[in-house]
Amino acid sequence: SVARVYADANEIRPREYWDYENYKIEWGNIANYEIISKIGRGKYSEVFTGVNVLNNEPCVIKVLKPVKLKKIHREIKILKNLTGGPNIIKLYDLIQDHNSKIPALIFEKINNVDFRVLYPKFTLDDIRYYFTQLLRALDYSHSMGIIHRDVKPQNIMIDPLTKTLKLIDWGLAEFYHRGMDFNVRVASRYHKGPELLINLQQYDYSLDLWSVGAMIAAIVFKKEPFFKGDSNTDQLVKIAKVLGTDDLHKYCSRYGIKLSSDYDDILMTYPRKPWRHFINENNRHLSENPAVIDLIDHLVRYDHQERLTAKEAMAHPFFRGS
Ligand code: ATP
Repeated sequence: SVARVYADANEIRPREYWDYENYKIEWGNIANYEIISKIGRGKYSEVFTGVNVLNNEPCVIKVLKPVKLKKIHREIKILKNLTGGPNIIKLYDLIQDHNSKIPALIFEKINNVDFRVLYPKFTLDDIRYYFTQLLRALDYSHSMGIIHRDVKPQNIMIDPLTKTLKLIDWGLAEFYHRGMDFNVRVASRYHKGPELLINLQQYDYSLDLWSVGAMIAAIVFKKEPFFKGDSNTDQLVKIAKVLGTDDLHKYCSRYGIKLSSDYDDILMTYPRKPWRHFINENNRHLSENPAVIDLIDHLVRYDHQERLTAKEAMAHPFFRGS
């Protein structure tokens, strides 16, 4: 299948734009930066706060672990293409250790408040505001021919004091090309779209909109994460217990997918669970809004082609309400 929007985003751009393997990296001066303290460690990096000693500007230094050069080139080319776009983390510089050749990426620093502290305090207006910002980042990236493929709370930096939101970690992001088979081993388990779990390799930008839907559902129903699988296969079972197995089988047959035998013993028959069944005393102040439920319903769909696009989501009545 072909993306409903921006299917030609890379075709209309010159080869240098998307051909990241032949991209020549230009390195900045490592002496311009000092590490201050460690703030995080991911699967692919160690992240530090730092300072640019030339202008005393704070920054974040992401030191990459040894991974394939191709992956490093992809992350850097994508960041170069997107830097300056709305709600996209800004890449300031690239440096490389003289001896080890280990590369590091220098980013603008966001005073992020952890989502486990921030999201439980969200009002419907906060959800409207911050998800508009996130959807702006995604619509921009999609319009530039790039799928993020790892949308999750840990990759969304929010500074509530300045009401700034920036989408970070473009390490799994990929250029979209119609007809291309993509790797389904992307995203983190709780935010993986059904296409990844049924091994449908011709996915597109709409993968990111599933993750957005799962995030909004988690906040609105106060169930973090909303789909909490113990393994990749159990992840699809958790989804099927909400969306039902009828529509799952329809989705598979629509795209000619035969479910892996790994599901034989664990996927039973489940009815579709109406969204209102998730309303409880604890989440009523958010979940009794029909517009937000309708938004979730139009994002959390098996069929990636049925999900709202980022632009359509921004135009949804929920974002107009107050
Ligand atoms: P993962 O394996 O979790 O995907 P990663 O190795 O790809 O991680 P990032 O996600 O880019 O690395 O960064 C790891 C963590 O560092 C983030 O979750 C965040 O807490 C922190 N961080 C990264 N960039 C910034 C930034 N610009 N401002 C503030 N904090 C940041």
